[in-house]
Amino acid sequence: MQIPYDIVIIGAGPAGLSFACSMIGTDVKVLVVEKSNLESISNPQADGREIALTHLSLRILKKLGVWDLVDHAQVSPLKEAKVFDGNSPSLLNFKSEDSSIEVLGYLAPNYQVRKALYQRVEQADNIIVMTEAMVDNVEYHKTYSDVFFADGSVVKTKLVIAADSRFSNIRRKVGIPSLMKDFSKVMVVTKMEHENSHNNIALECFDYGQTLALLPMVGNASSVVLTVSTDKSQAILDMSEVDFNAKITQDFKGGLGQMTQSGERHSYPLVGVHAQTFIADRFALIGDAAVGMHPVTAHGFNLGLRGQDILATLIKEAVSHGQDIGSKSLLKLFEKKHIHLTRLMFFGTNGIVALFTNDAPVMKQVRRFVLKFAEHFPPVKYLISNHLTEAKQNKFPPF
Ligand SMILES: Cc1cc2nc3c(=O)[nH]c(=O)nc-3n(C[C@H](O)[C@H](O)[C@H](O)COP(=O)(O)OP(=O)(O)OC[C@H]3O[C@@H](n4cnc5c(N)ncnc54)[C@H](O)[C@@H]3O)c2cc1C
Repeated sequence: MQIPYDIVIIGAGPAGLSFACSMIGTDVKVLVVEKSNLESISNPQADGREIALTHLSLRILKKLGVWDLVDHAQVSPLKEAKVFDGNSPSLLNFKSEDSSIEVLGYLAPNYQVRKALYQRVEQADNIIVMTEAMVDNVEYHKTYSDVFFADGSVVKTKLVIAADSRFSNIRRKVGIPSLMKDFSKVMVVTKMEHENSHNNIALECFDYGQTLALLPMVGNASSVVLTVSTDKSQAILDMSEVDFNAKITQDFKGGLGQMTQSGERHSYPLVGVHAQTFIADRFALIGDAAVGMHPVTAHGFNLGLRGQDILATLIKEAVSHGQDIGSKSLLKLFEKKHIHLTRLMFFGTNGIVALFTNDAPVMKQVRRFVLKFAEHFPPVKYLISNHLTEAKQNKFPPF
């Protein structure tokens, strides 16, 4: 029987395209299926997301030949991160110099990373990207799987990889349960110019009633991320620019001088997801379909890159030994190597969010203690910082 594709990837978001890039230079025949149109994935528009990339992610993007395609003039190094708790003097400060690394990470516009991923995939002759096509279901047979499209057509493949977002329909259809956490909050993000320099310092302010973050971009500009309860989000989105500028300038206590909105305001409802298992017969989940993180620890795409790298490495090994790339043992190993960290990050992040967004007096006391403890106990700070930056080597060359 003819099996036309070794792998069918569902979804050409950052995770699906990263995995496709990992297959460049192999003989593995890949079909990427994306429901949106070609323009939206080949020429994605600014979406307000600045992605904080860890050192591990940077190494993976370089290995994939993607990093050089990102416009470096739009990439900003992150040298320091400060976490504030309301108006209390408690503060947690991560500095790159404290942890023997040159920078904590790099901030790159999401649309730039997506564009670079597509450009790389487009160069490959073993990968076909099919747009405006929707996968409706997947059916397992012993030596292959059938992928059913919404238009009624069917394709056979040895392995299906679902990268179809945190709301993955295919995950549900394959029968993989997931834990979904609705935070009932909305993130409003936009680019703002300001008078004073940010000195490449990220700020996270857990104010009472809202969370405010600042991610340093190139020049005197930052991505401002305001998280509020769902019922308050529309008012923030509808606010005039004059009022919005005044509010954000005041929320940062004038520290950056006058702040002026220079990008569009985008909003993202906050829903976290963790799949109970990442695999089924001839089937694997990657990206947000496997674990969709709360963005506060900036780990969603970083974990997506890591997961696809683990799976791709195992697949390349299997190919080099003439083994089945959809075997149970390979998929089990992928899950084993990835799921423990994602669980830790997912539940750890949700715990941080629960602690820092609960304004009950006792919780305020607890978080002040936690911040003080972490700030004054270097091993804890070192551990958190190393975990968040994924910096295993001591020195990193500038990109
Ligand atoms: C405000 C914000 C800030 C963030 N900041 C960071 C950060 O600093 N660092 C970080 O690492 N992460 C960050 N993230 C998370 C990161 O953006 C996501 O983890 C990442 O985009 C997920 O990529 P994905 O490919 O898994 O899913 P998606 O981007 O959701 O892509 C899924 C794709 O699948 C397609 N699709 C769905 N169903 C089907 C189907 N049935 N058939 C065909 N195609 C289908 C969709 O059209 C879509 O293109 C942030 C997220 C937000 C909202």
